[in-house]
This record gives sequence, structure tokens and C-alpha cells, in this order.
Amino acid sequence: MVKAEAVHKSFGHTAVLKGIDLEVAPGEVMCVIGPSGSGKSTFLRCINHLEKIDAGRLWVDGRLVGYREKGGKLYELRDREVAAQRRDIGMVFQRFNLFPHMTALENVMEAPLRVKREPKATVRERAERLLDRVGLAAHRDKYPGQLSGGQQQRVAIARALAMQPKLMLFDEPTSALDPELVGEVLDVMRDLATSGMTMVVVTHEMGFAREVGDKLVFMDGGVVVEAGHPRDVLTNPRHERTRAFLSKVL
Ligand code: ATP
Ligand code: MG
Repeated sequence: MVKAEAVHKSFGHTAVLKGIDLEVAPGEVMCVIGPSGSGKSTFLRCINHLEKIDAGRLWVDGRLVGYREKGGKLYELRDREVAAQRRDIGMVFQRFNLFPHMTALENVMEAPLRVKREPKATVRERAERLLDRVGLAAHRDKYPGQLSGGQQQRVAIARALAMQPKLMLFDEPTSALDPELVGEVLDVMRDLATSGMTMVVVTHEMGFAREVGDKLVFMDGGVVVEAGHPRDVLTNPRHERTRAFLSKVL
């Protein structure tokens, strides 16, 4: 579902991704850990067209991200084609980014109505089902300001799912939450993983990575230092940098 080959990304003279290689199969959950500044968010942003890669190849669902290849040459996709690719990818950020003037239900309905122009009845039915799925059926008419951080983040997940994405990206979705609210968001993500969604999750929640992740990637300094089954990486890291990092967070 996601494949990266020697992906490079710099900001000015600062190389942030220095050759990322990895692969996420359909239905797999890949968790990404690593110190601050190691390039985790930048990598997610490249997958979701928020940043453009400088070199290498990146595919989502078998298609090059942002480019078309013809006769060995790469051509940039047009805005409309980029928008079409982005529609298949849901992203949830550390901050919930809900529209403050819209109810939970309206937040979830917004993108399918405006971007996909789907019929309102269909969108409403799906949105209600999704809010029910994230445990918020009773709160659908509340505004973000009337919801806890954990509830807002669950709305944000429902909102991303409303576009019926093939891939879900999570960038530290629980790091801005009070500790007692983390579990309810992780539960929703766990259910989503069980339902077969392909997910890339940047997280500091090692318990989640161990229980839910099919793969665990440790990034440091813009490279993948170590990748493998979460249990192997967490209990038997092969690299000194992984060991040093884990000794600080476990
Ligand atoms: P954290 O755990 O703190 O979220 P991260 O692993 O997600 O860190 P990134 O946000 O990907 O790290 O940032 C990697 C490096 O790239 C950092 O040094 C950051 O300052 C730099 N960087 C990120 N975005 C930009 C930008 N738009 N312009 C310039 N530098 C940037
Ligand atoms: Mg980050």
C-alpha cells in the first residue's frame, strides 16, 4: 500500500530524509518511532503530498505520489490528479484541527459533501455510523469546544474515515491529550486496525506499537535505523541507537 525507495527530502541545506526505504502491505499497521527531529512527520507529510520529495520514489496503492512515469522520466501530476490521490489518504494530527463553528456531525460530513460532492443523505448516514463507531453517537450535535480532547480526536478520526480512505496516517495522535484520555483514542485506532485498515502511526505509545503494530520502524537522523516486528525491535534491538532510544522511552 505504501512503498518508499531511497526517499530524500531537504529543507534548504538541511537534509531531513536521507534515503528512506520501507514498505507497508495492505491491511498492515506500521508504527514509527524515533527522536524529535528524526524526520517522522516529514515522511508522513511526503506520503500525503504536504511535502514534495527531492529524490527517490514513493508509491501509495501502486501509484507514484505526485508524479507520473513515462519513458523513464517523471512528470509532475496536475493539481486535480494530486487532489484525487490525496482523497484516498486520511490523516490525523497531534492537534485535532476540527472546524470550531461546526458540530461533530457537520465536521464529519464536510469533506464528502464539499470535496466529493456526494448526496447529503448518504453522507449523513455514513457520518452517523462513523460517530457511533468511535463512541460519540450521543455527542454528534456538540461543537468541538464542548468536547474533551479525546472526544475531539475521535471526531477527527471519524472525519478522516468519512472520505473512505485506503490509507490512514497518524502523527502522534495522542501526544496532546491528557493521560486519562489517551486510552479511548488508542482503542478506536485498535478497532480500525482490526477492521483491516492500512495504517502508518507515528507514536510514543510503545504498548500500542507492540500490541497493534505489524511492523515497527525506528528512525533517527533521517534514516530507518531498524525495522522489524515490534516485539523483536522492542525486546531485542540490534542497533545501539535503537537501544539508547528505547532505554529512554520504555
Ligand atoms: P518530532 O518528534 O519532534 O515531531 P519529527 O521526527 O517529526 O520530530 P520532523 O518534524 O519531520 O521531525 O522534522 C525533521 C527536521 O526537519 C527538523 O530538524 C525540522 O526542524 C526540519 N523541518 C521540518 N519541516 C521543516 C520546514 N518546513 N522547513 C524547514 N525545516 C523543517
Ligand atoms: Mg513530528
